[in-house]
Amino acid sequence: MTEKHQCSEKVWFQYGSHLCEIPAIVERDGKWYCKIHDPAQIKALPELIEALRAWMVFAESNYSGDGMDAVKLTREVFNKVGDK
Ligand SMILES: [Zn+2]
Repeated sequence: MTEKHQCSEKVWFQYGSHLCEIPAIVERDGKWYCKIHDPAQIKALPELIEALRAWMVFAESNYSGDGMDAVKLTREVFNKVGDK
């Protein structure tokens, strides 16, 4: 089967959201998800948070100006995830 599915996950960016554009590879409860948004992969979240934390520490000490907007946005997302 080569039928293509689109990932069901919404991806947020600065001005709103749109459906994830990564091709879906797995079906979970009738919805298709890409490799990143596969609910089964969410188990890897602690590692993801650690990687993100390390990246932010690096970014905050190496970027300035426009780059900091991306760092701040990541920090906001990170804080939301960290609340769970
Ligand atoms: Zn996706």
